[in-house]
Amino acid sequence: MKTPLCDFDHEKLAELMLSMGEPKYRADQIMRHVVAFDRYDAYTDIPTRLIAALKEKYADVPLTEKTRVEASDGAVRYLFETLGGDLVESVFLPHNYGNSVCVSCQVGCAMGCVFCASGYYGFKRNLSAGEILAQVLYIARDKKSCGGVKKVVMMGSGEPLANYDETVKFIRLVTSPSGINIGMRSVSVSTSGITDKIEKLANDGFCGTLSLSLHAATDEKRKKIMRVAERYSVKETINAMKKFFDKTRRRVVIEYILIGGFNDTPADVIQVKSLLKGLCCHVNLIPLNPTDNCDLKPCSRKHAYEFCKMLNDAGVSATVRRSMGSDVAGACGQLKNRTVLESKTK
Ligand code: SAH
Ligand code: SF4
Repeated sequence: MKTPLCDFDHEKLAELMLSMGEPKYRADQIMRHVVAFDRYDAYTDIPTRLIAALKEKYADVPLTEKTRVEASDGAVRYLFETLGGDLVESVFLPHNYGNSVCVSCQVGCAMGCVFCASGYYGFKRNLSAGEILAQVLYIARDKKSCGGVKKVVMMGSGEPLANYDETVKFIRLVTSPSGINIGMRSVSVSTSGITDKIEKLANDGFCGTLSLSLHAATDEKRKKIMRVAERYSVKETINAMKKFFDKTRRRVVIEYILIGGFNDTPADVIQVKSLLKGLCCHVNLIPLNPTDNCDLKPCSRKHAYEFCKMLNDAGVSATVRRSMGSDVAGACGQLKNRTVLESKTK
């Protein structure tokens, strides 16, 4: 498979140009095309012999759009196809304070959370940093007239900390001043809690927003819905989040899906409060988005607000996540699963 050019940072592109006997400034030119998500036929300032040589080994872009679903609120869910034919989902979310893109970092997911559509078909492979970056570049180009992209969240399919090296490389590429130059503080990484990688992420220079998908405040309850809870206790995971905060001084986010009758009672409020004591965090409450393959019950928006008030009254900073793009095929992984299903039944 050809390496996509967006897997290179400026320094590596400059090395490549020198190794191909080209002047170093070609790296600046090619970088501009990469950031603009140009195909080779738009490389009009590059000599045709160099384009021909590049084409032999390198792909201009690693993804093509297969389909999209647009919501009435402006959110768009894109389904991309990689060079090898894998399907990858990303979401564009418009905001008046800066549009954001939610990217996928793996094809499928091995973590097996019972509520999640991404893991339903298991894990296929890690995406490369360039394949993750390409989702941002494509959407920034597509939405240029709406203000492009200012924020990136790693909340699509896959577990970023299980694809650690490519995640760190992606963060470096997407925040690079010679690239699309998204501010590090505008990058969010969401993890189900691969605890030994949480502190490492801070030590490797990440100082954006880290979100932990907690969803249950006791090991017993969490094990019922998340396999990762078999490996790490909630206490050691929260301790790792505290270390992340100590290192970065960045308030962390606790994601908490509300599942009707499972984790949305007054007793859960007490457990959440006690677990999060001493952690500088904000709790993001998300009513479960029902998926085709799981029979957990969603909690009503009304009850989500009641649960939120109980947390606030107990002194925990929490809000209910605004529901955006709910008419663009629901939770992550669902558009892909639907497309796979349709093609199987045709
Ligand atoms: N693997 C990472 C990031 C991708 S999942 C993680 O788990 O954090 C992004 C977020 O979507 C997570 O908080 C996840 O728990 C949530 N999510 C997955 N399926 C969902 C569903 N059916 N309804 C609501 N949120 C869901
Ligand atoms: Fe993977 Fe996150 Fe889905 Fe769990 S919620 S299966 S970790 S993508």
